Amino acid sequence: MRAFRNVGGEPFFVERAAGSRIWDVDGKEYIDYVGSWGPAILGHAPKVVVDAVRDAAARGLSFGIPNPFEVGLAELICHWMPSIEKVRMVNSGTEAAMSCVRLARGFTGRDKIIKFDGCYHGHADSLLVKAGSGALTHGRPDSAGIPKAFAELTISLPFNDVDLVRKALGENKNQIAAIILEPVPANAGLYFPKENFLSILREECSKHGALLIFDEVMTGFRVARGGAQEIYGIKPDLTVLGKVIGGGLPVGAFGGRAEIMDQLSPDGPVYQAGTLSGNPLAMAAGIAQLRELERVDGWELLERLGAQFERLAREAIAGAKIDITFHRTGSMFCLFFARGPIVGLADAKRSDLKMFAKFFRACLGRGVYFAPSQFETGFVSTAHMPDEILRTGEVVREVLVNL
Ligand SMILES: *Cc1c(COP(=O)(O)O)cnc(C)c1O
Repeated sequence: MRAFRNVGGEPFFVERAAGSRIWDVDGKEYIDYVGSWGPAILGHAPKVVVDAVRDAAARGLSFGIPNPFEVGLAELICHWMPSIEKVRMVNSGTEAAMSCVRLARGFTGRDKIIKFDGCYHGHADSLLVKAGSGALTHGRPDSAGIPKAFAELTISLPFNDVDLVRKALGENKNQIAAIILEPVPANAGLYFPKENFLSILREECSKHGALLIFDEVMTGFRVARGGAQEIYGIKPDLTVLGKVIGGGLPVGAFGGRAEIMDQLSPDGPVYQAGTLSGNPLAMAAGIAQLRELERVDGWELLERLGAQFERLAREAIAGAKIDITFHRTGSMFCLFFARGPIVGLADAKRSDLKMFAKFFRACLGRGVYFAPSQFETGFVSTAHMPDEILRTGEVVREVLVNL
C-alpha cells in the first residue's frame, strides 16, 4: 500500500507531521491528503489527542483487564451510532472485520458470505477476494496463500448491482451468513451507492435471514457523526469500525444488535480475544479525537473545506484536456482519470493509470502529497487551512493543464 511502484520512485520517509503538513527526513515539506490513510481527521498530532495519550501513558500502557477509557469510547460509539447496542474493541480494522464475519457465521449457522468487488475489509482470508486498497493497487486482489476452500465461501459481486445480489441469495438459499460492504466504497477510488441500493440490501438480508454488515472503518465518524448509516438512514446488523476511532493509534471495533453480540465468548460460543484490545492509550486517543470533532463541529467544517477543494478541483479539471471524474463526500474525494459514470470497480479500472502516475509525481514535486494510487481516497482534515487548499487548487490546475 505504501510502495510507489505504480507511480514511480520511492516512498519518502517521514520525520514528523503536524496539522496538514508532513516533513520527510530530507527536510522536504508536503501538504498531506493521505492522513495516515484515514485516521488523521483532525490533522497530524492534534494537541488534545497527544495530551490524552501522554496522560494515559503515565498511568500505564496496557492492563489486559477493563479500564474506564474502554467504557468511555464504547459509550460514545453506541450513542453516535444507534444501530450499535454492544461493541467490542480490537486492534485493527482487519481484526474487526474478520471477527464480524465469524460472528455472523456463528449466529446464523451458515458459512457463505457476499462481498463486493473492490471493497476492502482488511486482510483476513475470507475477505481477500477481489479486494481493493493495496491488494488492488499491486495487482493481487485475490492474494496467494488463501485456500481455495476458503475463497469458495466468499461470493464477490459488482457493487450497485441488485439483480446479481438477488440471484446469489436465491441460488444459495439458507447458506448466506452475511452481506458485508463499505456503504460508500473508498478503497478502489471513491464511488457511491445508487439510490436504494443500500435499502434493497437491507430488505434482502432481512428476507433471507442474512446479516447486513457495514464496514465503516473509513466512513465511520468521518462522513457524518453517525457514519454512512446515518446519512443513508440504514440500520445494519453489525458495523465494523477503525481508523478515526483510534486517533492514530492501532484500533478497531465492531458492534451491533445485542442479540448477535451476545454470541461472543464468554457469553456465547463464538471465540474472540486480544491481549491489547481496549488498550488505554488507544482508547484515550479515540475519545479525545471524537470529543474534539464534536466540539469544533468537525463535520460541518470538513464539509466546508471539502466543498472548497471540490470547487477548485472542478475548475482545474475544466481547464484540462483529459477525462477526469471527480467524486467527493464531505472530507473524502477522488480524481479518477477516466470518463464517468463510475459506479463500481469495473468503471474505476478504466482509469488511465499512467496519467494518474504523472499527476501524482507532479503534485508531489510541488509539495502536495496525494495517495500514490488511483485506487485510494483523498482526505482533507480539520487542520487544512483554506489558504492551503487554495494553494493545492493552484497546484492541481498547473499540473492538469500540463498533463
Ligand atoms: C482500512 C480499512 C480496513 C482495514 O483496517 P486496518 O486497520 O488497516 O486493518 C478495513 N475496512 C475498510 C473499509 C478500510 O478502509
